[in-house]
Amino acid sequence: MTIFGVSDHGPAYWLPGDHAQPGTQMAISEMGAYVAEAQELKARYAGRIEVRVGIEADWIEGRAEDLKRWLNDYPIDYALGSVHYALGTNIFNQARWQREEPEAVFRAYYASVVRAARSGLFDILSHLTAVESYSPPLRPELAAELYPEVADAAAESGAAVEINTSGYRKMGGDEPFPNRTMLRLLIERGVPLTFGADSHRPQEVGFAANRVVALLQELGVDTQNAQFFRTKRGSTLSVFPTR
Ligand SMILES: [Zn+2]
Repeated sequence: MTIFGVSDHGPAYWLPGDHAQPGTQMAISEMGAYVAEAQELKARYAGRIEVRVGIEADWIEGRAEDLKRWLNDYPIDYALGSVHYALGTNIFNQARWQREEPEAVFRAYYASVVRAARSGLFDILSHLTAVESYSPPLRPELAAELYPEVADAAAESGAAVEINTSGYRKMGGDEPFPNRTMLRLLIERGVPLTFGADSHRPQEVGFAANRVVALLQELGVDTQNAQFFRTKRGSTLSVFPTR
């Protein structure tokens, strides 16, 4: 691996207090130390691994201005934009599917993803179809209705889309996030694609990279010539171009 992005979960900036969600997110007051440590790794590995300092930032409806202010406070190379909530509940909460109407959740989630893309705040849009991790299957007709707008918004956003291999881990099947159906729409629109293992422990770094290369080849993407992609924060990422 020659280019490696570090992107911990950013703090829950939309909730009161310094450390609202200790199980999944750092404290607001830890952010400076996190960025400083990642910057230090960049210097330490210079010439061996090009380290990029990123953050996974939550898109929360109605909080775009807070997010923008918070992101601008730190010297980061890129921001991943993630939608983790639909109708107020986390998308990885498996119990929700026992009590909620799936179509309403899908509609709310994909509408949020569209708004996140259109916000222009992000360099990479992360795990685009993650709402489907534990859900009943999204009907093909509904995907045909909802996905194209997401792909259009991604294409217009100037962001790259990550192929996130936690999809293989969470769903246990043969689809990363986003799934093939969404990936085809993104590729048709020329959206640059990057790789993300969503690693939460060292053994998951680079997880299923070969599988992603094979998948991209299956979908007709040239995987031999990765290119640099300029982030809104003046850095670069490595991407697979799709046009
Ligand atoms: Zn995430």
